[in-house]
Amino acid sequence: MDVQYYICHECDEISKISTPNRPGRYKCPNCGAKLYTYKPGMIDKLYAYNMAALLLFVLTNYFPFLSFEAAGNASHANFTTAILYLYREEQWLMGTAILLTTVLFPMIRIFTNIVLFGSLFHNYLPVYATQMIKVINTLSPWGMLDVFFLGILVSIVKLVKMGTIIPGISLWAYMTMVLILAAAQAAYDPHEVWEQIGARKRIQRQKAAV
Ligand SMILES: [Zn+2]
Repeated sequence: MDVQYYICHECDEISKISTPNRPGRYKCPNCGAKLYTYKPGMIDKLYAYNMAALLLFVLTNYFPFLSFEAAGNASHANFTTAILYLYREEQWLMGTAILLTTVLFPMIRIFTNIVLFGSLFHNYLPVYATQMIKVINTLSPWGMLDVFFLGILVSIVKLVKMGTIIPGISLWAYMTMVLILAAAQAAYDPHEVWEQIGARKRIQRQKAAV
């Protein structure tokens, strides 16, 4: 593989790395600061994790999450509509917070990840790659709040006696999705994403020059 040059963020030393794609941790030869860690297969992992998360999200909403009595009949609600019932109980602020952290943010994150890493996996560079990385970076701090707000949702449902939470496929699929998204977050490496985008840009430029 070709030789690459890296500038140390700590001491501005320029170091030449002759094997940039060998797995491992790269340090600055001058001050010992970490330059980057290369873990192979990140694109494949993130694509796979997010496809699995999407499937689990569909399962979460397909199977009933909440059962309640309406006009004497037992009814079911799925995960997203159960949150919307909070609006009927006039829990506006909490309803919105739960909807954002447990449904909308994970959904946007999963879709952006699938488009970005799916494209990179199939050797295609999406037009809005930079913007997509910004979206992923902006949403990642919110990723840890979903379990917390899921807990609040379950508490509110019990406190205002909206109905009974069904401890079934929906809830388990959601919890598994949260774990998979945490694994995806652990595998995510910003340095490697920019490297991959840079490599594809070089290929595009070479093709345009021919
Ligand atoms: Zn240094």
